[in-house]
Formats: sequence, C-alpha cells, structure tokens
Amino acid sequence: MRRFLQRVAFVYHASYARTVSGVPIDPSRADEILAFLLDRKLIRRRDVYRPIPASYQNLLRVHTPAYLESLQDPATLAAIFGAPVPPDEVQGILDLQRLSVGGTIQATRLVLGRTARIAVNLKGGLHHASPERGMGFCMFNDIAVAIRRLRAAPRSFAGPVLVIDLDLHDGNGTRIAFADDPSVHTFSIHNRTWDDRPAAAATSLALGEGVSDEMYLAALRDALPPVLRAHKPGLVFYIAGCDPAADDHLGDWHITATAMLERDRFVVETVRAAGAPPLVIVPGGGYGPSAWRYSARFLGWLASGRVVEPPGDMELALGRFRPIAQQFAERAVAFGGMGRIRSTSGA
Ligand SMILES: [Zn+2]
Repeated sequence: MRRFLQRVAFVYHASYARTVSGVPIDPSRADEILAFLLDRKLIRRRDVYRPIPASYQNLLRVHTPAYLESLQDPATLAAIFGAPVPPDEVQGILDLQRLSVGGTIQATRLVLGRTARIAVNLKGGLHHASPERGMGFCMFNDIAVAIRRLRAAPRSFAGPVLVIDLDLHDGNGTRIAFADDPSVHTFSIHNRTWDDRPAAAATSLALGEGVSDEMYLAALRDALPPVLRAHKPGLVFYIAGCDPAADDHLGDWHITATAMLERDRFVVETVRAAGAPPLVIVPGGGYGPSAWRYSARFLGWLASGRVVEPPGDMELALGRFRPIAQQFAERAVAFGGMGRIRSTSGA
C-alpha cells in the first residue's frame, strides 16, 4: 500500500521535442529528464504514459471561440511568441500546445483514478494563457482546461483545488481564468505581477528582481502553509518552473541549484503534510541548456527518495533513450488546421 501511494506516474510524448523559432526553450528538455530518470533506474518504463491532444471542446471550456479562431491569424501568434511564427511552424506549435494540454489532462486523470498519487506531465504549465488571450509563449492554459474539464464531468471531482505556481513569471492567465471561482486558489510567487485584477481566491506575491535563496525560500515558507490549511485542497497542481535559477537565460533571480531543490521538496512535503491530496506536477518555464537539470534532480528525488546528480554530458543516456522514445511517438499529432480540431475527440 505504501508503495502504491508513493508511485509517481509520468506523461511524455516524443513530440514534446518540437520547437518554435525564437523561443529559447531547450527542445530536448523532456527527453533529457526522462532519459536521465530511466537511465539511472529512478523510474520504470511502465510508469510512463502517452498523452493525446486536447480536443477543441475541452479548449472551449476555458478559452473563448473568438480567441481560438484568432489563432489562425499570424498577428495573434506573433503577439504570443514575441516574433512572427514562420508559416511552416504554425501547425506544429498548435499541435504541441494541444498535446501539452492533453498531457496535463492525462496526469490529472492518473492521480484522480488512483493509478498514482503524483503524476508529472513533462511538458506543461502554460500559465500566461487566459480565456481571451495568449501571451508569454502560452496559447492554451493546460491546468485551467484540466480543472474545467473535471468540473464539467458528472460525478467527477468537485472539491477545492490549489494551483501552486513557482515559475519565475506571474501565473496571470490561470488567476484570470478562475477570478470568479473561490473553489480554485491560484498561488503565484514571481518577479513581477502581470495583471493585478482581483480574484476570489488567489495569492500573488511579486518579489522584484535579483532575489536570493534566503528571500525566496522565506517567502515560500511563510505564504504556502497557511493557504493549504485554509483552502484544504483535494487536488493540487504544482508548476515547478526552473526559470528562477541563477543560470536561466531569461531569468533575473539568483537561485542556486541547492535552493531550487529545497523549494521543490518543501512544496511536496508541505502538500503531503496537508493530507497528501493528489498532486499533478508540470515543469513550467526554464530557458537555456541547463534548465532540464533542475527538473531532473527534483523528479529523481520525488520518484526514488534519493538525490542523484544529473550528468554533465547526456549523450550516452540520450543514445540509449532514443529507441525507447519511439514507443511514445505513435499517434503523433497530425490533425491539419485548427478548423479540423472540432471533429476530433480526445483528452
Ligand atoms: Zn517563466
């Protein structure tokens, strides 16, 4: 029983390695994390599940039809990604983000179906996307869609939900999506607040730039436990963003690897101490070639109870992993244009 409760499930698709020009995210991040975890035998292959893309119906549970329609317009995509998206990449990025949403839906299913108490989607945390607008590389809000899908399903989970967002950037999109819903508390510690509209149940802490380990961990230790005690969530999402790290290419904080792991362990242990509700974890942001290491260190500890240092050179492990990755490449996302999403059923 103890072993069952501690099992961690992983959601991964080989298409998670798709890229978009101009977004400084390491496309191999999910591959590297999973290759490391499997190679060091911190997890087993049977712990890995393959997602399917989120359906148009599920995206509509959060996003307005007008917004989804506007994604056909190159100007909308340019605003989200900060630069024009080359025409031959448009379908790929739509598919990738739909698959990321499907992955978070899948992870939520796994924890509520008691396959595992904790599930990790290795691509997710699209927290800037609000119902009517995408921004900051985020088109669809995966966690918001997963929660709304639960709320819409008969006899599904109806209890309080907590979203703990420790990406460097504000979880503005998720907060806006649930601004009128006191059953979903959105908790975000970030450098700058992107949107200060009030919300029914939210914690939004802007710490400014140049934040150190001590300041960051103190803010987290002060703010998180009272929210868990007061809100009593029956389901928790954790965006374990890696961009607070000192070596992040977009970040402006100075958080060490030791403190990043301490942060993640504090979140998991605090959630466990609050009755261990089902927990869904997504990696959020993290820019540059080292971002994957923070997730790998944390998730290795989460799955095995041991802290194993990721190697400097992943080539050998990735070489052994690539044949395995092919098993998670079937049912690749190829649905054609957004207009055809409507006819697909799925996550
Ligand atoms: Zn971020």
